[in-house]
Amino acid sequence: MLSVFFALSYSVFEEDIVTYPIKGFNPHTFIDWDGMLACVIYLPGCNFLCPFCHSSVLATDPDSLKTVPFEHIERFIKEKKGWIDAMIIGGGEPTLYKQLPDLIKDIKKMQLLVKLDTNGSNPRMLADLISQGLVDYVAMDIKSSLEQSNYDKAAGVSVDLIAIRKSIDILLNSGIDYEFRTTFVPTLVERADIINIAQAISGAKKFVLQQFDPKDILDCRLSAIKPHTPEVLNQAASLAREFVKNCSVRGI
Ligand code: SF4
Repeated sequence: MLSVFFALSYSVFEEDIVTYPIKGFNPHTFIDWDGMLACVIYLPGCNFLCPFCHSSVLATDPDSLKTVPFEHIERFIKEKKGWIDAMIIGGGEPTLYKQLPDLIKDIKKMQLLVKLDTNGSNPRMLADLISQGLVDYVAMDIKSSLEQSNYDKAAGVSVDLIAIRKSIDILLNSGIDYEFRTTFVPTLVERADIINIAQAISGAKKFVLQQFDPKDILDCRLSAIKPHTPEVLNQAASLAREFVKNCSVRGI
């Protein structure tokens, strides 16, 4: 999901109460939410195994990472005295974590806006968070065209496409700000897939085509694949605008 991963090596003292399984904390990002100075926390585990994943340890072996005590994050935010606008919750797949609403409620106590990064596989949690007013922005990955074999190949597992479609509908009808995003990985996503996705999210507020970065990914067999050229991404974005006016390219 997010390509930058900062696991600060906080030591866990006996008196620390580790409330949440936070496996990484990035104290500053300007690039993950337009116009916001945000922190990012990373939750462990994922139900997908996308070959192009940049968070493979977090997704597949989170127990090997130290837990960042929530109290340290609270202290950090307090010391910044209002300079931080928002908290981004990434992973892994954060919606797998049943206590996510409680975690967000604690984050909101720090007067922060909240952005959720998700693969869209848990529409029930997504709907719950939105109905409780706990998320201000959602970025949902759409891995490939909504055709079973394509999606399974891009996600590295067999995916419940009904759940993915439900999450799309929830966001389209939510009234909150959101974006759908697709990493344009050659061999997994082609131009026809982008058009298929754009049709499936027709009328969406925002669709972002992300450039593929072959460095440090889950399946090293993809590392030899050359990313599409910027022209290919721009052409695909231009075609997608027939269905989603606000379609942009990221990472070229
Ligand atoms: S959804 Fe895919 S890219 Fe995101 S954390 Fe899981 S395996 Fe990685």
